[in-house]
Amino acid sequence: MSLKELHRKVLEGRTLYDADIRYIVHLPDDRLPELLQYAHAIRMTHFNTTIGLCAIINAKSGTCSEDCSFCAQSGHHNTHSPEYPLISADEIQTAARRAQSHGVTRFGIVASGKLVGDKDLHGFAQSIQKVAELGMHPDLSPGTLDVGQLKTLEKAGLKGYHHNLETSASFFPRMCSTHAYEEDVAAVRSGIEAGLYVCSGGIFGIGESWEDRIELALLLRELGVQSIPINFLHPIPGTPLENREVLTPAEALKVVALYRFLLPDRALRICGGRVTVFGNTRKHELLASGANGLMVGDYLTTKGGCVASDLDEINKAGLTPAAG
Ligand code: SF4
Repeated sequence: MSLKELHRKVLEGRTLYDADIRYIVHLPDDRLPELLQYAHAIRMTHFNTTIGLCAIINAKSGTCSEDCSFCAQSGHHNTHSPEYPLISADEIQTAARRAQSHGVTRFGIVASGKLVGDKDLHGFAQSIQKVAELGMHPDLSPGTLDVGQLKTLEKAGLKGYHHNLETSASFFPRMCSTHAYEEDVAAVRSGIEAGLYVCSGGIFGIGESWEDRIELALLLRELGVQSIPINFLHPIPGTPLENREVLTPAEALKVVALYRFLLPDRALRICGGRVTVFGNTRKHELLASGANGLMVGDYLTTKGGCVASDLDEINKAGLTPAAG
């Protein structure tokens, strides 16, 4: 077996089996450049030189009823993260306009918490309309919504539903005790059933194994998720994971490359934790790792990188922002 053979197998649309996947996972670090080269080649086959740029706004923050061990917004942890109800549609539109001026086409409205009431649903609909007015693609990360609620928001202009599965079903109970993994899977299925662009991925570096990473990738593939955000842990003081070591850049790059081999034609977007793991100086490696999307600007409760410098690096890599 060789990487060249696995690369050909992927391009021919053939399934990678257990032994193939294990071969990639067990590659030594000195073969990482070769792995990245093939992952990038797969990405170029499906996405050419385009790169999807997205940005988010933390539209409703903190006091979440859930206890996800990595999250600054859980009401179970003592993190001093900001707490506020849903902000106004005008504030959201202003932030979207700013992101648009940097070439961002997808704008995500993110609300902490698991369930929303009618008041929030109305507020989301107004915000979605305001973002759509700009000619952008409004995405929403509102917690678990059902098909009916999503269809209502679709009428307001919603394009994408975001709901991360975070990790594998096997590891999830060690990360969250307040709800079942199946609820999150059901939410993803609802987004797909509602006909929305579904964005669902995970967070890496929370103590999960390579088995967990593979399990998540295969489930996302089976569910038919179109876009996969890849987040890396940024340990937040006051959370149970505050002292966890962050992933090395090599391990993080290997996660991205593995996901490209397993999900060759899906959008892989590098999101939270990018600066924590890579700093501001190694973007070129990420842009050639198999990923075809980048979240720019700030994250939910942590600072992101400098947008101008991200755009500069994207231009230098010969990439152009995708339309959606
Ligand atoms: S990840 Fe989402 S559901 Fe979990 S604690 Fe944070 S805001 Fe709540």
